[in-house]
Amino acid sequence: MAPTVSLPTKLYYIARMIGAFVGPPVARWSARPALPSNTAPAAFELGNGVTLWQLPVGVVRVREWHRELPRELAEVDDDLRFPMMMSNTRITDWLDCTAWLIDHPERCILVDTGESIGFGTSAYFEGVPKTLAKGYPKIIDATAADGNDLTQALAVAGLTPADIDLCVLTHTHSDHIGNVDQLDHFTRLLVSPEELIPSSRGGRLLARLPQGDRVQPTTLTEPHEVFGSVMPLTERKDVFVISTPGHTVGHQSVVIDLGDRQFVIAGDAAFNDQQLLDKTIPGIVENRQLTLQTYEVLLRAQQMKPTLNLFTHDPTNRDKLAEFSRPLQ
Ligand SMILES: [Zn+2]
Repeated sequence: MAPTVSLPTKLYYIARMIGAFVGPPVARWSARPALPSNTAPAAFELGNGVTLWQLPVGVVRVREWHRELPRELAEVDDDLRFPMMMSNTRITDWLDCTAWLIDHPERCILVDTGESIGFGTSAYFEGVPKTLAKGYPKIIDATAADGNDLTQALAVAGLTPADIDLCVLTHTHSDHIGNVDQLDHFTRLLVSPEELIPSSRGGRLLARLPQGDRVQPTTLTEPHEVFGSVMPLTERKDVFVISTPGHTVGHQSVVIDLGDRQFVIAGDAAFNDQQLLDKTIPGIVENRQLTLQTYEVLLRAQQMKPTLNLFTHDPTNRDKLAEFSRPLQ
């Protein structure tokens, strides 16, 4: 049960949140650290002819409580969690934004697109409702270094955007869809139907998605013993989309299942593995109950077979992959 929070405490957090929104953008009230030097994309041979590319594209800074709420505050109502998070004044250093390229014998699949150097400009927020566009830079700070964009990262993998016919978006926050405009005009974008429902909450930037039928709702049709139902993306059915709601109610992830082990490209389902084990939650979840259910599913998957979870902003992804993509004995 959610703990009871007194009315004065509630009003305190709401007042602090309002203060954060009328105040300057995060980048101005907390001096921007120097950008990290560009990290080159890295490739990992997973087996069965599948190569996974980690593409670092852009960076993001958030409040410490955005990444993780103190345990004593983690159980408040969904409505109060956001004001609490916004009242926090400690900002993280730059965190990686990761796009993933699955180079599979059947096709190349991109998962997310990272953040763009244009974050925060009026062109970037074109078509986005005014209050959302104004509020966004008060919630996060994001950018990319010159030359750190999706097209250049793909070039390191020997590809151009024209080689990508499918891009799965875990959700529609800026640091995941920041470079959709660099994709080719025929690239299909797979987004969960729940994510596509317009909402004033959740900071979804639906206006940044291309118009027309390129954006397609995910259809989870194949039953799966751990993940409920899934949407296969390959004939071999070894790459599929699963539903991992919580961070946003339409958040989804992509699984690469190689039989004896699997990889879950888990977006912002959590910030790191420890959160799953401790059942602590980031401040930025739309629905706490769904977040915890998603943790349960990911933990159950680990019990079924060796499973590596890859989170968008986890600085240990590369080490984890280097360790895990060795052949199992
Ligand atoms: Zn994110």
